Amino acid sequence: MSFAGETKKELTLVSTSACCRLAELSGIASLNGRLWSSDNRRVLDVETENVAIARRIYTQFREEFAIHPEVAVRKKMRLKKNRVYAVRIFSPPDEWLERLGWHKDPQTGIQVPGLPNFSKECCRRSFLRGVFLAAGSINDPGSHSYHLELSTMDEDQAHAVRRRMNQYGLHARLIARKRNYVVYLKEGEKIVEFLSLIGAHQALLKFEDVRILKGMRNQVNRLVNCETANMNKTIGAAVRQLEVIRIIEERMGLQQLSERLREAAEIRWRYPEANLQELCARMGNTVSKSGLNHRFHKLEEIAKNLQGSSTPLGPGNG
Ligand SMILES: [Zn+2]
Repeated sequence: MSFAGETKKELTLVSTSACCRLAELSGIASLNGRLWSSDNRRVLDVETENVAIARRIYTQFREEFAIHPEVAVRKKMRLKKNRVYAVRIFSPPDEWLERLGWHKDPQTGIQVPGLPNFSKECCRRSFLRGVFLAAGSINDPGSHSYHLELSTMDEDQAHAVRRRMNQYGLHARLIARKRNYVVYLKEGEKIVEFLSLIGAHQALLKFEDVRILKGMRNQVNRLVNCETANMNKTIGAAVRQLEVIRIIEERMGLQQLSERLREAAEIRWRYPEANLQELCARMGNTVSKSGLNHRFHKLEEIAKNLQGSSTPLGPGNG
C-alpha cells in the first residue's frame, strides 16, 4: 500500500467524539458530496475511491443521523478503472444538510456545500482530516521530494482550505492544475505538523523516521564533500609548492637558498603529500604552521622572480 493509502487507512480508524464526527463528515461531504435527484427524490452521494474511507463515511453517517445509508459502486470511466463508492442518502432533510455546513444558494435555491466554521479546536482539526480523506494525497517520504496536497475543482473552496491550514502556520500554497485547484505543502516539517493536526500519528512517525535518515545521509555527504574539498586544497597547495621548488632547483639550485628556506623546500620535496601540520611534525615542531607557510610564500616569490628574469617556463620547456 502506498504511503498515502496507509495514512488514509490510519485516519479512518481515528476515534472521534460526537462533535468531531460531524466536523469530519462535513469536511468529506464539502469536497466529495453531490446532491442530485432521482424520481423527484433528492439524493445525497458522498463518493470515494477508497473502500476504507467509504466504510468510514458509512459508519459516521449511521451514527450521526441514525440511518443505514445505501452504498452504490460504479467503475470509473476512462483511463483508470478504479471503483468509486458512493455512500447514498435518499431524501436527506434540509436540517441534516445544514448540520453538514451546506446552505441554500440564494439564486438557485439548491443546497450547496459550504465550509462551516467550527468553534471548537478539536472540530477544526477533524474538519481538516475530513478534507484530507476526501481530497488529500501525500508523497512517500522516501521519494524525491516532500509533498502533501488537497485538490478541489472549486476555487473558493481551495482558498478557504488554504486559509484554514495557514491558521496553523503551515505555509500552504495554492496552484491551479488542469481543472483543479491544489493546496499543497512542500516543507517536511510542515507536513509533519499537518499529519499531527489531523491525527495521523503513525504516518507522522514513519515520515519522521525517513526524514531523519535522509537528513543524516545529507549530513554525511556534506562532510565527505567538505573533507574532499580540504584534501584538494592541501594537495593543490603541495603541487604548487613542488613546482616552485623545481623551478628554484633548476634556475639557481636549492643550495643558494637561506638555511631556513632550504629546510622548507627539502621537507616538502621529501613528503609531497603531507599537509602543513605533518611537515611541521617532521621538522620536530621547530617551526609553526604559519611560520612554515611563510617560508613557502618566500619560495614562491623567489620562483616568480626567477621566471620573470628569464624565459618563462612553458610546456615542453620544463
Ligand atoms: Zn470536536
